[in-house]
Amino acid sequence: MKTTCYKINELFETIQGEGSFTGQPSIFIRLQGCPVACSWCDTKHTWAINLDDQISTSNMLNKTQESDHWSELSVDDILQVIIQEGYQAKHIVITGGEPAMVDLTPLCLGLEEQGYSCQIETSGTFEILTSKKCWVTVSPKVNMKGGYKILSSAMHRANEIKHPIATEQHVDDLKALLDEHQIVDTQVYLQPISQKKRATELAIRTCIENDWRLSVQVHKYLGIE
Ligand code: SF4
Repeated sequence: MKTTCYKINELFETIQGEGSFTGQPSIFIRLQGCPVACSWCDTKHTWAINLDDQISTSNMLNKTQESDHWSELSVDDILQVIIQEGYQAKHIVITGGEPAMVDLTPLCLGLEEQGYSCQIETSGTFEILTSKKCWVTVSPKVNMKGGYKILSSAMHRANEIKHPIATEQHVDDLKALLDEHQIVDTQVYLQPISQKKRATELAIRTCIENDWRLSVQVHKYLGIE
């Protein structure tokens, strides 16, 4: 049987700065590839998958700046890297790019077998294929240039919905989405885009009005990855 491999832009240990797991020591696996094209995306270097950009695992781990280079690793390779690098965290965040472009089930199951908990962060525009236990954070990207629609299956699989906002329109888009997919009980986090003062004030006000929670990207305030 063919071993499943994943195209990885970055693999590092840090503190989760967003949503329910804020403050949790975590190993981040950033997958390469995303066609959603959000104008304010802060990981545009993960968008393209160019075969010429494949590099070795050690070069990927030793990157000193953001780049669109990626390395291809199997689940066993990933577990080996975690041990070699001496990472201590037991929570793994699979992000991107858009990680749901690929089947994440083998990755989640392989990591869970070794005692790790898994979380994915996805735009909700692809069918989500993970283990049952995997925590799914859907950050719905509405009306982006890539033209992808938010899938109802993704909205209903979400353990939390984390929505980036800067304007009232973004809040209205989220409310319309929750109505359209009849989402009532899932915890909602609002995340001000780019730590802007106006966006933060809007997010605080809207969270109070709707009994939602604020997610402020703690890692950006701390100046860590
Ligand atoms: S879905 Fe995420 S990675 Fe893709 S463009 Fe939007 S913010 Fe960037």
